[in-house]
Amino acid sequence: MDFSEPDHIRQLRATLQRFIDKEMPRSAAAAWDRDNHFPREVFQRLGQLGVMGLTVPEEHGGAGRNIVATMVVIEELSRRSLAVSVPYIMSACYAGMNLVECATPEQQQRLLPRVADGSLMFAYGWTEPDVGADLASVKTRAERRGDQVVVNGAKRFCSGASICDYIYALVRTGPESARHKNLSLVLIPPDTPGVTITPIESMGMKGAATTDVLFDDVTIPFTDVMGGEAGWNNGWSMLMGAGLDVEKLEVAAIGVGVARAALQDAWSYVYERRQFGQPIASHQSIQHKLAEMKTQLHAATLVLYQAAWLADNHRPCSVETSMAKLFATEAARAIALEAQTILGAYGYVKDFDTERHVRDALLLPIIGGSSAIQRGNIFRWSKTTI
Ligand SMILES: Cc1cc2nc3c(=O)[nH]c(=O)nc-3n(C[C@H](O)[C@H](O)[C@H](O)COP(=O)(O)OP(=O)(O)OC[C@H]3O[C@@H](n4cnc5c(N)ncnc54)[C@H](O)[C@@H]3O)c2cc1C
Repeated sequence: MDFSEPDHIRQLRATLQRFIDKEMPRSAAAAWDRDNHFPREVFQRLGQLGVMGLTVPEEHGGAGRNIVATMVVIEELSRRSLAVSVPYIMSACYAGMNLVECATPEQQQRLLPRVADGSLMFAYGWTEPDVGADLASVKTRAERRGDQVVVNGAKRFCSGASICDYIYALVRTGPESARHKNLSLVLIPPDTPGVTITPIESMGMKGAATTDVLFDDVTIPFTDVMGGEAGWNNGWSMLMGAGLDVEKLEVAAIGVGVARAALQDAWSYVYERRQFGQPIASHQSIQHKLAEMKTQLHAATLVLYQAAWLADNHRPCSVETSMAKLFATEAARAIALEAQTILGAYGYVKDFDTERHVRDALLLPIIGGSSAIQRGNIFRWSKTTI
């Protein structure tokens, strides 16, 4: 067993840290959070590092599929700002991974080079007002009319709809009775006539703002049905494909990044803050909190990258990715809240990043399949107890 990070991953982390120091200073990250702003110019410069192509095969202009490296990018960016890491996921993962796995050769030729150069982002339009975890009951309908498709319905919590190139919408394309059989995934540009986007004010994950989206007789070409003829009425199996396993890891990687930032800030703070004539680091209760947080973070990192390694090597990993999502996001929440406790009043005010880390971390066990859903998956999909 070798748990050391290979050289190319260490170099990738160093490159990203240099980029973050230069292009994503703390003051900028705080402003993006305050203004719910997507820094597109920073994102374009990130694209110049070549990291967008980490999910794209070389023949389409990418660097070849590398899930571990993709998670490293998400983790490092999330240490500073979700206003850049979430758009990265929207490009490399939502667009890149789904196109690689589900698209027709024509769609891949047309769209994958744009993922590789960072100029294509998908927003997931899956959740609806009446549909949360039970995605197979979506009501948004798409009807085929010759070589066109007409979409009607409503999506909720569609994050990044206002900044994306396509909303990747899960739609019903046949009777509701056949729950899993009559679903498709369609690509809808957000500026198509009949699309209305309304922001939803949320606690955290600012930058790729979450939104309500209405589709009123929205017409798209059939060529924008994911997978073409083979994809029509086959959306559920595409949704449940290997992309879903990686999607769980994306949220886990955000969690590891946010938790690492929260722990580092708390660790520095305990030497700076003096009370009763000594740094608060001298209290055993503070030392134990930091030791517990570091241990949780270490375990979260291992469970994340072991699952990513399995995915990279095309091994079964549904249980491991669910465990990674469950453990890393719950650990992130616990670590961020403990960091806030250590900073006391200063963990509660906006002058310190800890306040943002808490708001961002609280979201992670909810999205991408809640902790309850992951626990159910782990129990159901595990063939043995060990
Ligand atoms: C900021 C933000 C951004 C988001 N971004 C997106 C996005 O980009 N695209 C998108 O499609 N969606 C997005 N979502 C939606 C998110 O994925 C949903 O919140 C999630 O799917 C769960 O749905 P729900 O919150 O409506 O919970 P529900 O499904 O209504 O569940 C409510 C509670 O019941 C529990 N529960 C439900 N079913 C079960 C079960 N079978 N077993 C045990 N417990 C269960 C849940 O764990 C939860 O605690 C976002 C949400 C937020 C808040």
